[in-house]
Amino acid sequence: MSVNWLESWLKNKWVHHGLRLAFATLITVLLFPFKFYVLESTAYDWRMQLSPDPRSSGQVVLLSIEHETIKRLKREPEALDWAVVLQKLAQAQPAHVVSFINPSQIQGSYDDLSMLSEIAARLPFVFGENDIPKTGISRLDPLAAPFENLPVEPAPGTADRSVLARDGVTRRLILTYENRFLLHPRIAQEFNGISNPHGYRGAFQFLESTQVLIRYREKGTYPTLRFVDVLENPLVAEAIRGKIVLIGRDTQENAADYVQTPQSKELLALSRLEMHANALDTLLLNQAPRVAPDWVKLLFTFIITLLTIYIVLNVRPAKGLMSLGLIMFAFLLFTLAMFAFGGWIIYVSHPLVAVFICYYFVIPYRLIIENRRSWEYYQKNRLLEQVEELKSNFMRMMSHDLRTPLARIQGMADVVRKEDGHLNSTQRMALDTISQSSEELTEFIASILSLSRIESKEMKLQLRSRDVNQILREVIRRTDYLAKRKNIEIVTEMEPLFSFNLDEDLLKTVFTNLIENSIKYSPENTKILVSTEELEGEAIIQVADQGRGIPTEDLGHVFDRFYRARNSRGNTAGNGLGLYLAKYFVELHDGRIEVESVLDKGSTFTVRLPMDLSKASDYRDFDGTERGGLHV
Ligand code: ADP
Repeated sequence: MSVNWLESWLKNKWVHHGLRLAFATLITVLLFPFKFYVLESTAYDWRMQLSPDPRSSGQVVLLSIEHETIKRLKREPEALDWAVVLQKLAQAQPAHVVSFINPSQIQGSYDDLSMLSEIAARLPFVFGENDIPKTGISRLDPLAAPFENLPVEPAPGTADRSVLARDGVTRRLILTYENRFLLHPRIAQEFNGISNPHGYRGAFQFLESTQVLIRYREKGTYPTLRFVDVLENPLVAEAIRGKIVLIGRDTQENAADYVQTPQSKELLALSRLEMHANALDTLLLNQAPRVAPDWVKLLFTFIITLLTIYIVLNVRPAKGLMSLGLIMFAFLLFTLAMFAFGGWIIYVSHPLVAVFICYYFVIPYRLIIENRRSWEYYQKNRLLEQVEELKSNFMRMMSHDLRTPLARIQGMADVVRKEDGHLNSTQRMALDTISQSSEELTEFIASILSLSRIESKEMKLQLRSRDVNQILREVIRRTDYLAKRKNIEIVTEMEPLFSFNLDEDLLKTVFTNLIENSIKYSPENTKILVSTEELEGEAIIQVADQGRGIPTEDLGHVFDRFYRARNSRGNTAGNGLGLYLAKYFVELHDGRIEVESVLDKGSTFTVRLPMDLSKASDYRDFDGTERGGLHV
């Protein structure tokens, strides 16, 4: 009892939908706390690569010690070279000069270094430390003498080496540490006035720092001056005035001078100098990528999980896989567009993982259901087969066991009838009724047998070249006694027809049925017109009566199996099989049967049979005279 209740509860449509919703919610909630850093950062990098680069601020100029400088000087630039270069920079009046090269590592005599220190001090010069010192930033060690008075600022871009994706890619920039702005935001503040780290788009808390994601541009975006060029040539002041000059190394020798970026994970992917330019620009333009709120992640995970469940349960596997692929592709494309045009990062890992989880949980469930269904189907099929067998056994029994005693009853009735003199009128009437009833029963059995032959597809046409008119005449002769009983006159109007291939027995059944119906459903003293003609290669046979007609609502159904029009049910004997068989037999000949009827006025049945004369071996005139040999 309780199992039944559970089963019917499970079959309820709303319970079904409810369970799916609940499962989708469960998956969404369970996945929520997990962080798929590797997957997410891969998707992030992929988006960064595919999105068009934003414009740069135009505020940043790079000055780099690169291969050419070393080659031309035949050594590293020394204190005096630096002095000349800084002097020239000072004249061009930049807004800031940030050196990522520690001045205390520059070679030169103490006097030269002191002079360099003095020149640097006249500039808005700062040494950008690439790491946060272990001691923290509240107590920064000053530079070694004679640079002890030059400012030092930590300016780390942080690689995901031991955290997050752990792939060594520099994606983030530290804005504040120990609640203090570091170098980049401090410089940017002078341009954009943002004094609070949370004034930056996409700023997030990470350990003790506030950070943003760096929006990278293609390598080579920033105007770059070679150290040796500045040293040897006059400097165009306009290129520098009011700008931020970043000094660093790009000699392709030391991996520490380079970072890996979302665009490229090669060892020397992008110079650290250019990374700083990108970081600075991200702040100057306040265009750091921002992570969409958690509810967006939850919403997409939920929607995609739900879609997956429905697709896996309802769509055929190949089509389902394709739809899921399309949905995922559309989703990824959407996240790409959101990144490219709004700087939004929509997490893709949760929906993606959810699809796989759903797939692997729901597919077995679907298999179980389908297995059960096919088992049920198999059982039903077996039952049907058994029923079918029972039916044909029954049919066989009908043909043998019923027909023989019926014939005997009829025969005996005839024998008794022959003893005419000894019978009174009541006895004669009883004998007639016996004959008539057994005749009806024989006909009914014949119809049922035809039906079973049709259904078991045993029916095959026995084609012979015959004249339809002759068949009709014979049918009329045989049914005439029925017509006479009701004083019905059967009038014929038959055009001579060519003989053509047909199954005589089947068509006899058809015409007998049509004529007997006309008699059966017509009142006494009426006429029945049986006519034939040939029209466009078709023999057209019509049986028209002046009987009760067929109600319009029933007209479309009289050829259905066991169908009887409402005005015949209950008042006239019949089984509703005759017209069904007639239609079937006519259609076996590639013909058509139609009916037109007006209630209480009469009905006309029209049979159209294609006359395939090419196959006919001979043809006869309507009187049956053979004219063999002539082929039409
Ligand atoms: P039945 O054994 O009932 O006559 P048929 O299949 O021969 O079965 O005919 C189906 C139904 O079509 C009949 O029950 C009757 O209602 C209607 N019908 C058939 N022929 C005629 C007709 N000539 N006049 C009126 N109704 C007819």
